[in-house]
Amino acid sequence: MFVSENLGVNEKGNLTVGGIDTVDLAAQYGTPLYVMDEQVVRNACRRFKESIDKYYGGKGLVCYASKAFSCLEMCRIIASEGIGLDVVSLGELYTAVKSGFDCSKIGFHGNNKTPEELEYAIEVGVGHIVVDNISELFMLEEIAKAKNAKPSIMFRIKPGIDAHTHDFVKTGQIDSKFGFALETGEAFEAVKQAVACENVELSGLHCHIGSQIFDIAPFEEAARVMLDFIAKIKDELGYTVKELNLGGGFGIKYLNEHDPAPFETYMERVSKVVKSECERLGIEQPAILIEPGRSIAAPAGITLYTVGARKEIPNIRTYVSIDGGMCDNPRYILYGSEYEAVVANKASEERTDRVTIAGRCCESGDLIGENMPLQYAESGDIIAVCATGAYNYSMSSNYNRVQKPAVVFINNGESRIAVKRETLDDIIRNDI
Ligand SMILES: *Cc1c(COP(=O)(O)O)cnc(C)c1O
Repeated sequence: MFVSENLGVNEKGNLTVGGIDTVDLAAQYGTPLYVMDEQVVRNACRRFKESIDKYYGGKGLVCYASKAFSCLEMCRIIASEGIGLDVVSLGELYTAVKSGFDCSKIGFHGNNKTPEELEYAIEVGVGHIVVDNISELFMLEEIAKAKNAKPSIMFRIKPGIDAHTHDFVKTGQIDSKFGFALETGEAFEAVKQAVACENVELSGLHCHIGSQIFDIAPFEEAARVMLDFIAKIKDELGYTVKELNLGGGFGIKYLNEHDPAPFETYMERVSKVVKSECERLGIEQPAILIEPGRSIAAPAGITLYTVGARKEIPNIRTYVSIDGGMCDNPRYILYGSEYEAVVANKASEERTDRVTIAGRCCESGDLIGENMPLQYAESGDIIAVCATGAYNYSMSSNYNRVQKPAVVFINNGESRIAVKRETLDDIIRNDI
């Protein structure tokens, strides 16, 4: 009935999340409110981990891409599942460190890391740094030398794959700000340089071909391209690359018509390709790393809002305005993303209305979606937007000096605050 499996309807006709009444959550914590279901996060972590055990003999590591959703509590949950973490900034790394995360399981990404970020990454001992470009390699070599360290690195490679997804989230092709190109020889030159460096250890190659990808074929193709390159490095430089990081990007169900391949199928098919290609090329099977972000966080989350004005423009459209919008969910204004919405206090009714859900910011594009099927919504109703666990809270802003919502985690029928709602004093805390 709903896109996420943890959603249901109770005897009052209210929407439930993890068995808890969402109307009660809205009353208890206020709106807008982010709600994250801990069990959904944990189940996703386990499925990813178990599929590597089952199809690739456990020779690999799942690293949750924390840019999808990061806070101390999320890092603690990920750590307790025994998987690793990806960070892309000092802030995400600091959050992980402060949560007590084992830094040897952290990978550090980013196309333009600062010296300060690299120094901190070395000091806390991150497991690997994913180097994006040649100047970063030389900067890291110098910083590592000064610290008498030898960090493990991976190179981010552009495998040249078209992942059949939205242009803005397609990153594996040659015209991308991320990574080294294969076609031009840039990547091979960089590997030669890295092998000659004394204060970095080239442990692996990395690629990330995009996001919200439903097909498995582009991932299989990326694995083939990367293994060919690993074989070339072995043949021409006599150097063994031990780790293959295939990135994240696994699609999730935002709408009922979305049909992402189950992750187990992904791992089964990609493992098969890796094993047969390694045999054909005569190279050792590398450890496989994967970096799911959205697929762990998105289905765990919903956002609750209170309806304010309803504006019917005859023969044009109906706007239903909510007490949040682009500040807590900028994905529609960024790339026209689609969501399922439910009037939480009328969840047992049919969605016979078609409305545009509008936010409260001074920006016409501040919408959650257009022409969305919805129950008849009027002032005071609670609207739930589904599958908002990824790239919502983490992309939220204070535009219009709006306070960021609280994040509540639920588990076993109980709820707890993980991030407090911002206060008006938070809004001016750095102002002088
Ligand atoms: C964003 C990102 C991910 C996670 O992507 P999802 O689509 O959220 O799974 C993984 N790896 C890298 C390098 C990324 O930039």
